[in-house]
Amino acid sequence: MQVRHILEDKGRDVITVASTATLQEVARILSDNRIGALLVKGKAGGLAGIISERDVVRAVADKGAAALGEAVERHMTRNPQTCGEADSVESIMEMMTRGRFRHVPVLGDDDQPCGMVSIGDVVKIRIAETVREAAVLRDYISAAV
Ligand code: AMP
Repeated sequence: MQVRHILEDKGRDVITVASTATLQEVARILSDNRIGALLVKGKAGGLAGIISERDVVRAVADKGAAALGEAVERHMTRNPQTCGEADSVESIMEMMTRGRFRHVPVLGDDDQPCGMVSIGDVVKIRIAETVREAAVLRDYISAAV
């Protein structure tokens, strides 16, 4: 299974936020869209980083509610690890496990974001694959007896 199989199922929407937006705005966008991370666009429009709900929680834990008025660029992770559509789902699982993060932006051939894969997407496709394999094995065994 490849990353493109996940995107074909979930779509290629990429929800972004400006690096100058506040953490309060990030919390609003995450909540409205029921997602856990946003890609951050820099002033020139390119990919500047990623901000996840963990970053918002960490900022509030460190600085209290005042952190919600601070700019995304102070709290985002710069140079996030990314993947391409042809990468295997297994390699993304390994990347998430090693890096201890739950989101990976997908970049197209033009190096522009063309999707986002979350740990939930990876688990969903792996469970579907396992269920399919079990059904094939069951059919094989019942045909043999
Ligand atoms: P998450 O588990 O995705 O909520 O993110 C946990 C931490 O890793 C946060 O500080 C994120 O900014 C950071 N992070 C999320 N995704 C990535 C990524 N693809 N590459 C590097 N860091 C990331």
